[in-house]
Amino acid sequence: MKQDSTQVIIVGGGITGLTAALYLGQQGVSFILIEKHRGTSIHPRARTIDTRTMELYRGLGLSEALREGGKALAPAWGILRGTNLVETLATTQSDVIGKANFPKTFAAMKALAEKSPESVCRCTQDISEAIIYARAVQHGLDLRFNHELQAFQQDTDRVEVLVKNRETEEVYAIHAQYMIAADGANSFVRKQLDIPCTGHGAWMDLLNIYFEADLGALVKGREFSQFLVDTPEITGFLLAINNTDRWTFHLHRPKEQAIEEILRKVIGIPDLKVTVLSTLPWQLTVRIAAQLRVNRIFIAGDAAHTMTPYAGKGASAGVQDVHNLAWKLAAVLRHQAGDALLDTYQTERQPVGAFYANLSGEMAGRNGLIDESKLLQYGEKLLGLPDYGYQSTAVVRPSDAAFNFFKGEPGTCIPHMWLDEARTQSTLDWIKGQFVLVANGHFEYWDSACKMAPGVRLVRLPANEEWMSLTQTTPTDALLIRPDDFVAARLNILQPYQQLSATLLKVCGA
Ligand SMILES: Cc1cc2nc3c(=O)[nH]c(=O)nc-3n(C[C@H](O)[C@H](O)[C@H](O)COP(=O)(O)OP(=O)(O)OC[C@H]3O[C@@H](n4cnc5c(N)ncnc54)[C@H](O)[C@@H]3O)c2cc1C
Repeated sequence: MKQDSTQVIIVGGGITGLTAALYLGQQGVSFILIEKHRGTSIHPRARTIDTRTMELYRGLGLSEALREGGKALAPAWGILRGTNLVETLATTQSDVIGKANFPKTFAAMKALAEKSPESVCRCTQDISEAIIYARAVQHGLDLRFNHELQAFQQDTDRVEVLVKNRETEEVYAIHAQYMIAADGANSFVRKQLDIPCTGHGAWMDLLNIYFEADLGALVKGREFSQFLVDTPEITGFLLAINNTDRWTFHLHRPKEQAIEEILRKVIGIPDLKVTVLSTLPWQLTVRIAAQLRVNRIFIAGDAAHTMTPYAGKGASAGVQDVHNLAWKLAAVLRHQAGDALLDTYQTERQPVGAFYANLSGEMAGRNGLIDESKLLQYGEKLLGLPDYGYQSTAVVRPSDAAFNFFKGEPGTCIPHMWLDEARTQSTLDWIKGQFVLVANGHFEYWDSACKMAPGVRLVRLPANEEWMSLTQTTPTDALLIRPDDFVAARLNILQPYQQLSATLLKVCGA
């Protein structure tokens, strides 16, 4: 039997697995990605990429392409409710459609705009995955689509998987040091590992109907994100995909009527030309894995936390998982970190996935549709800068302290500040997947300190008042930032300069 070997195997070429590929590639880690389908998602699925995730894609040079890819969907905001779309649009004043529906959320968006170089982006998953895939191909990464994981085992030294090439039927082995399972909600890997899960589980079956119908003239100027229908006959929600001829309807309960008939009723045009492009059954689910690491295997994305779409966080949470994991794997594979660093993936990411998954469940109303009152309540939180912090051995902070966000506190994300008048360069752009030490002065001292701490790049920011006020630092302070943009520690020249290398070793569990 053929045997390949690599450092990391990624199972799953959805948004989580593909993004993991870009991050491992950035870190110079060799890997093989296997995906059972021939290509990326043909279903639009996720339509929102949160602000923090856009910051991550900015770091990968993809945020503009994603925004461009999603521009047809961009005006679609707001939730409508009614029996059919034509009637609802006719009786709803245009100023309460879309943006004006969510004044609180949009006010929060404006405030957030000051805190990030990016903003929330509308882009459907068929487009976003294709963009990420194209970048991975451009980088010559080893992506094996139409290859399915059939079995795996691990021992203390390695993971071995059996893979079937679905085109040739050939079954072959791959050996690796680690495996990332990003194999989705029904994760074969999670089930085989018998990882205990919490959460409601699956409680409702829906059918995602992706269809073509020319509604451009009907919705122009009155764009909406979701149209909720809950009548004795039909329960489901219509989602805008490109605001003209592409839509999805998520139908709850099996129906005896033909799908096209249901769609015409929902829209309210009896002779509308409707073409069903594809259908995808899915389940409203909240399932949270209690463990994200089993020795050499890590689970990420929907495999780790399956959530309802109502918090709009599934894809974003998966992307943030692998951003957290990739640099840690790279540091261990380079022998710059100890195995304990890999445990912090679980410590840091499991509570975040659990939080969003539980919230997404809370946002589902009794009829299985989104509960708009919850969206108004949580909208600000969901737009998404990380107002979660990490409390683990990979950050130096008092264990019982509450988090202060956007102030450069260890365990929180580095605050954004524009570095030029044209507002093109952000402090976030410093990081580039490496450890960075941002010093406010005393550069000779920090230079010597960095020489003793391999892999730490010094950023000199001479006594910048705005930065010092933002981060509540003085000219003698420096911030050590991890490769995933989170602050690892605050340092000061009053400490011996071996302090930096000692802190690095501590953070890396070496
Ligand atoms: C209607 C809807 C709306 C949504 N809206 C949003 C939103 O607005 N924002 C948001 O962030 N999220 C949203 N989501 C959630 C989002 O789609 C998922 O969270 C996201 O797709 C998870 O990505 P993933 O890569 O972890 O898993 P998946 O996308 O499920 O990818 C897993 C991949 O693994 C592959 N695979 C599985 N088993 C094997 C195997 N044995 N061998 C090889 N390959 C395998 C699968 O083929 C698949 O391609 C929405 C979901 C739905 C259904």
